Amino acid sequence: MKNLDKVKTAPVNEEIRFHVKVILAGDGAVGKSSLLRRYVLDDFSEEHKMTKGMDTYSKLTRVPGLGVVKIHTWDLAGQPQWSAVRESFYLGSHAMALVFDVSQPETIQHLPDWVRECRGKAPNIPVLVVASKIDLPFKVPVAKIARWAQDSGYDYIETSAKNKYNVEAMFEKLGTMGVNFTLKSR
Ligand code: GDP
Repeated sequence: MKNLDKVKTAPVNEEIRFHVKVILAGDGAVGKSSLLRRYVLDDFSEEHKMTKGMDTYSKLTRVPGLGVVKIHTWDLAGQPQWSAVRESFYLGSHAMALVFDVSQPETIQHLPDWVRECRGKAPNIPVLVVASKIDLPFKVPVAKIARWAQDSGYDYIETSAKNKYNVEAMFEKLGTMGVNFTLKSR
């Protein structure tokens, strides 16, 4: 397990108001580690290194209207052999990014399964559906997925870790969703 406590853009001398645990779920190779890497290190690699078990990173972020939030991100391995490990990491999480790859239609198939698995351990956790790699040709009916997200009460965002598109916005949104969830459950 890697634990890089990188605080690259730490807001100046302000108290951390909230700690939020964010889960990144989705099939292997959909771009979860790349989104994290872009967000935390502002870096991108064409290489795919399979996440083994899980990776964690954290970063301070200023969430508009909420102050400084420390986002602890947990990147879960999509491979089935890690399912026992995965379940324990859902516990205590505050927001879930549900990532699929717009260029790989099979990556939308398991979206409902990921939510079911996560909500089994973290009931009612807010979900952000993340369309990843939007710099590539779309082979997934994204409008349909966006509608499914809306009908299910989930948020939806389109991103590219490669082009830096909406990556900050994605994590800011997850931070906000996580804080609101924490406040509601108090
Ligand atoms: P993970 O298994 O879900 O963590 O997936 P990775 O982050 O390791 O990404 C899998 C592969 O997709 C790697 O070869 C990445 O370079 C590539 N990739 C990730 N994000 C993007 C993106 O936004 N655009 C493109 N074109 N490729 C990406």
